[in-house]
Amino acid sequence: MSEKFIKINESFKCLYCGLFNEKDKHGSCRNHCYYCLYSLHVDIYPGDRKESCNGLMKPIDIKTIGGKNIIYHKCLNCNKINKNKSLPDDNLINFYELY
Ligand SMILES: [Zn+2]
Ligand SMILES: [Zn+2]
Repeated sequence: MSEKFIKINESFKCLYCGLFNEKDKHGSCRNHCYYCLYSLHVDIYPGDRKESCNGLMKPIDIKTIGGKNIIYHKCLNCNKINKNKSLPDDNLINFYELY
């Protein structure tokens, strides 16, 4: 879990499903896998990469707020819950099928 899995808008290999994620074409910060939606606990505030936990974060809920999809992630290491904006190419349907 020491591997640098997520950097600011760079491509990465998902530690949960192993899928390769291209960096986001639209320039936003992809911090979760588009396929399985898992993330990593690397941010205290979105994008700062200051969190040292590095735990795997499981998608636990998706809510639509103001027309935007928000993914709730729960850290499997420290149980912290983070909110993340969903990106247009996220495979949200997988959330309902996989979990
Ligand atoms: Zn994945
Ligand atoms: Zn954590």
